[in-house]
Amino acid sequence: MDSDRPKAAFVDRDGTLIAERDFLTQKEDIEIFPQTVEAIKLLRELGYLVVVVSNQSGVARGYLTEQRVFEINEEVFRRLEENDARPDLFFYCPHHPDASVKEYRLVCECRKPAPGMVKMAQQIIDIDIPKSVSIGDKLSDVQLCQNLGGRGILVLTGYGTSERDRIESSGIQPDFVADTVLDAACWLEKSLAGR
Ligand SMILES: [Mg+2]
Ligand SMILES: [Zn+2]
Repeated sequence: MDSDRPKAAFVDRDGTLIAERDFLTQKEDIEIFPQTVEAIKLLRELGYLVVVVSNQSGVARGYLTEQRVFEINEEVFRRLEENDARPDLFFYCPHHPDASVKEYRLVCECRKPAPGMVKMAQQIIDIDIPKSVSIGDKLSDVQLCQNLGGRGILVLTGYGTSERDRIESSGIQPDFVADTVLDAACWLEKSLAGR
């Protein structure tokens, strides 16, 4: 009935697809993880739209402009495209509730785990969220889709190992804890085969 609605993998960028830099502001500092291209290709093969969703509070903190976020991301996507692995969509949240830049200082609807960026994607494509998954190196990435009835995977790259230590106290239980984003995609492949 609803089988024609696409599912999506909402994938975090920094610490998940590329190295975490504690606020990436320079193209020279982009380092795509060696597993990323294969992971994106596998997610596609499994029928997922690949939607990159990124909290970019560096904008609210005055470290970079939204234009710079766009330029850096375009460079990431260009390099992935060279390997036939360009993600489908990109959304970012520039806000933070304690920001130094007044116009971005707010409790918004788009900073993960709030669902705003998923809803933005849904305005473009009618995504089947219960069949979708969020993947990232923070528990907020895990919660993004879990809060909406989908699944969430924690990866141990980036901040992942310290986030794993918070699982018990947080009460947030990832559907899977993966070494890398490719490991996450492989787990999804297995879980889909079992259905
Ligand atoms: Mg991250
Ligand atoms: Zn926001």
